[in-house]
Amino acid sequence: MNHKAVALFSGGLDSMLAIKLMLEQGIEVHALNFLTVFCTCTAKGCMHQATKAAKELGVPLKVMDITKEYMGIVEHPRHGCGRGMNPCLDCRIFTFSKARSFMEEIGASFIITGEVLGERPMSQRRNAIEIIERESGLAGLIVRPLSAKLFEPTRPEESGIIDRERLLDIQGRRRERQLNLAKELGINDYPCPAGGCLLTEKGFSKKVRDLFEYIPDYGISDIHLLKIGRQFRLSRAAKLFVGRNERENNALLSFALSGDLILDVVDTPSPIGLLRGRPNEQELHLAVSIIARYSDAKNPMVKVSVRIFPSEEQEIATVKRSEERRVGKECRSRWSPYH
Ligand code: SF4
Repeated sequence: MNHKAVALFSGGLDSMLAIKLMLEQGIEVHALNFLTVFCTCTAKGCMHQATKAAKELGVPLKVMDITKEYMGIVEHPRHGCGRGMNPCLDCRIFTFSKARSFMEEIGASFIITGEVLGERPMSQRRNAIEIIERESGLAGLIVRPLSAKLFEPTRPEESGIIDRERLLDIQGRRRERQLNLAKELGINDYPCPAGGCLLTEKGFSKKVRDLFEYIPDYGISDIHLLKIGRQFRLSRAAKLFVGRNERENNALLSFALSGDLILDVVDTPSPIGLLRGRPNEQELHLAVSIIARYSDAKNPMVKVSVRIFPSEEQEIATVKRSEERRVGKECRSRWSPYH
């Protein structure tokens, strides 16, 4: 056992404090940040937050994008989900297992986390923590500097690498002790705890269920699209995405795949529509009507261009404005369960 450790690192205050406490005991810390498409830490992304915080602490940072492998866990969680599609226990077992591999790869001896006993209902309860340790093969090797005194001593503590007396006994959801500790340790620049995980949101979880049900062979583009725009499941075979602003319109185009239909109202500001799947005539007409419904078109007849991505060749479909009004009403009740 040596003085080298891997820290699971979100870039949030708790993980910063945990690292700082370990650095003060002379531990060589390597931060590890996991990235999935479901993180919502900051507008600039989790990686930005983690990079900035690691720099402030002066520790090396490794970022792993685990989205692809992680989807299997979201689809088939062994330990169930929280209030949404968040498989927290399985998620933690998976990330700890990844951390163990990284620990072995760089010749480190143990893991550090900023976990606080009882702070998160699903993954930071005592029995959940025990399951996670056991199933990730890390029993005795996970040091939680903020709550360590509430647990049995770990192997680095027993072997004298870490002085247990200098570890803490924080528990629960109140943050006062962490905020005071941040002041004491000179950590002034840390993110507010606004970030999170889209899988905990009920609305987003419906979209994920829709993906698993209707697109069993989904790819990374399908996963990214879940986060964009209004979404309409038109049939088992066709789904329409409608941008709500320019940023979403651009995002839709950036995730378009060959064969997707791109819909846009002619000569009028409008959302971009991306129609994926195998729509029949009727569903295409419905998609055109929905796009017209969300455009600023005022004419009795609305013209919508339709092209097969990536071709620039367009066909023009025309829809009656009266019809798109009717569709607008029906959208809300029938086809638009997700926005
Ligand atoms: S909230 Fe999301 S990221 Fe956090 S443990 Fe649960 S599933 Fe994993």
